[in-house]
Amino acid sequence: MEKKYDDNNIFAKILREEIPCKKVYENEYALSFEDINPQAPVHILVIPKGRYLSVADFSEKASDIEIAGLIRAIGETSEKLGLTADGYRILSNAGTNANQEVPHLHFHIFGGRNLGGML
Ligand code: AMP
Repeated sequence: MEKKYDDNNIFAKILREEIPCKKVYENEYALSFEDINPQAPVHILVIPKGRYLSVADFSEKASDIEIAGLIRAIGETSEKLGLTADGYRILSNAGTNANQEVPHLHFHIFGGRNLGGML
């Protein structure tokens, strides 16, 4: 059984503007900002504005327009940062086996260098 959403998680605080972020892109349903501890020359997080834990939770509960809004935000962010020519990687950690640190759905976008093997 999946956990309940925790409104005190750090990304919920960013969405409520209680703590700052370096915003890259925003639409009605999603926000993109720089990761505080970048693992590549470009490392961006894209999050839905709604209260979702993971892709499974989002897929089950979000409306079609929220899902479209998040996927479009990933695409727009990648374009805006000029990643589409040389390529980029998208990753979303969910739960214990993936060592998810922040319990609010997020997609990492990595780019700016060759990213090596998948894991
Ligand atoms: P994950 O392990 O997939 O849950 O990744 C969580 C990510 O959130 C990590 O890459 C952290 O560096 C990043 N992170 C944590 N706090 C912040 C913050 N305040 N602003 C931006 N990124 C953050």
